Amino acid sequence: MTAQIIDGKMISAEVNRENAENVALLKSKNITPGLAVILVGDNPASQVYVRAKVKKCEELEITSFHHVLDKDATMDELLALIERLNKDENVHGILVQSPPPPQIDEQKVIESIVPEKDVDCFHAVNVGKMLLGRTDGFFPCTPYGVMILLEKSGIETAGKHVVVIGRSNIVGKPMTALMLQKNPHANATVTCVHSMTKNLPELVRQADIVVAAIGKPEFVTADMIKEGAVVIDVGINRVPDASSPKGYKLVGDVKYDEVAQKASKITPVPGGVGPMTIAVLMQNTIKSCMMQHNLL
Ligand code: NAD
Repeated sequence: MTAQIIDGKMISAEVNRENAENVALLKSKNITPGLAVILVGDNPASQVYVRAKVKKCEELEITSFHHVLDKDATMDELLALIERLNKDENVHGILVQSPPPPQIDEQKVIESIVPEKDVDCFHAVNVGKMLLGRTDGFFPCTPYGVMILLEKSGIETAGKHVVVIGRSNIVGKPMTALMLQKNPHANATVTCVHSMTKNLPELVRQADIVVAAIGKPEFVTADMIKEGAVVIDVGINRVPDASSPKGYKLVGDVKYDEVAQKASKITPVPGGVGPMTIAVLMQNTIKSCMMQHNLL
């Protein structure tokens, strides 16, 4: 069997059409959503992600406020900028591209963003709301992007065994929490495995749906996958590739070619989860704008 591809580009375009409709609705009321994207330093991968976010804002006519701070920028400089953006009525979402340079205390920075503008859903207040199943905060962009991918692909999660590989605060933990929600499009039985898990392949082999978020190129191999399982690859890894003009290529956390022979459905890298993350970021920015104008 060769797996059917879950097309993140196509599904994210659908989400972005809904986003565009909501921006038009706001514009009809003379309101323009605004997203502030802060990059500290010159990490090449971060530059790519920031450019993609700014470009999507432009396409959707969301105002982007793009701030680049020197790689030696201090915490005080960054906190002063966030303080200004917190008070700016034209800014409805604020994000600091991860990972920042080592002098920056990422958690402190996240907690300095007012929860109402924390469109990444990293702030403790929004993480708490998400965990409680409340909808008056935000949904974390990548994990929620995965939930939308599954729902719009007609893949049921209710009662299914989902194995999430990875327990980061950004992907693995919130992914586990969203899959557990009492909701017809969640309601899964979830196992979260990580670097301290014993018998990881044995557990992954029991999964109906595997979500890989490890950050290790091609870690998940065909022998870990149950015949017919659905495989969602969150990983984005740069590996050297002499045949590419850039000198590298992007691969996921899943060994795509062999796993695609065993899975029923699979996301590619690139073109799977990545575009969904940005679509949800835009959705959250629009939601924030609506909430700040009492339209939700
Ligand atoms: P992270 O490094 O913060 O976390 C990785 C997790 O994997 C950790 O919890 C760790 O316990 C687990 N892990 C590491 N090695 C392991 C091993 N050998 N066995 C079992 N578990 C292991 O990474 P992250 O921020 O969660 O990102 C994971 C991947 O997803 C990366 O490739 C990242 O680039 C990618 N990512 C993609 C998007 C997107 O939009 N597609 C968004 C965020 C992250």
